[in-house]
Amino acid sequence: MIKGSTDIYAVIGDPVEHSLSPLMQNYLIKLFDLDAVYAACHVRSKDLKTALAGLQALNIKGINVTLPHKIKVRAFCRTVSKDVETLGAANTITPDETGLCADVTDHAGFLESLGDRQSLFRGNAVCMLGAGGAARSILYALSQLEVDRVSIYNRTRENAEQLIREAAQSFGFTSAESVAQSELNRTIESSSIVINTTSVGMHPHIEATLCGDDAPFSRRHFVYDLIYNPLQTRLLRTAKSKGAFVQNGLDMLIFQGLQSLRIWTGQNLQADAGATKRM
Ligand code: NAP
Repeated sequence: MIKGSTDIYAVIGDPVEHSLSPLMQNYLIKLFDLDAVYAACHVRSKDLKTALAGLQALNIKGINVTLPHKIKVRAFCRTVSKDVETLGAANTITPDETGLCADVTDHAGFLESLGDRQSLFRGNAVCMLGAGGAARSILYALSQLEVDRVSIYNRTRENAEQLIREAAQSFGFTSAESVAQSELNRTIESSSIVINTTSVGMHPHIEATLCGDDAPFSRRHFVYDLIYNPLQTRLLRTAKSKGAFVQNGLDMLIFQGLQSLRIWTGQNLQADAGATKRM
């Protein structure tokens, strides 16, 4: 029940109406029996500064930031975490007496979503599809998992090359290469893990996929799709039908949200994958 003492959290973005964050965060708030509520606020770019300036005055305890504000928001924060400095984007803002603090939780959410499967990555080759904002976070996470190499296929190859240069510069990861579409099947064959970080296959274009039905998936592959709508993309269906072990983006979404909640509450909140699946 919302009371006078209830802490207020929100996600800001434009658009924000379709965000799953309120559903997911209010589920976590209930799971952990917190006196809090989480809403969505439609904030246009022209209003970002004013909206952020009002957070402390309104005693709002924390906000998540989604597109298109993830980069711009840094300029209005007093402190930014080392991860925000490295990745150049923030998704979690915490007001305190002296100003706003910026954090980013995507890469931590990805790592936590893997659970025991983190050990599959050590010393193994990864094929990553995409080179956008999510790909940057995933590459940062992969750099912490001691993978052997990451081969990146992206529609616009120059964006992959750019991401590879930035990864070397900002977090010292030098084991990435870009591959052409014609090399994709060969790359999948020589990788143990395939991660889709693109929006290809996302609702409403659910039959789209970057890997055709002839993609050489097998029982020795782990295929992870960051997309959570639909829960089973065509990519995951194809890979699963050939015996690969698959995972969708729902746990990553939940664990990056949980990490935000930990930052705001200062509590070491723990949820196992079983708990999150009951959402
Ligand atoms: P983004 O920065 O806009 O990047 C989009 C990526 O998809 C780029 O690599 C782009 O390639 C590629 N792409 C888009 N349309 C394409 C098409 N028709 N054919 C081939 N490639 C295409 O977006 P983002 O923020 O990285 O998000 C990407 C996906 O990850 C979204 O589906 C999002 O929902 C998901 N995501 C999930 C989580 C989670 O917690 N599970 C977190 C973050 C993101 P170009 O460079 O050629 O344009």
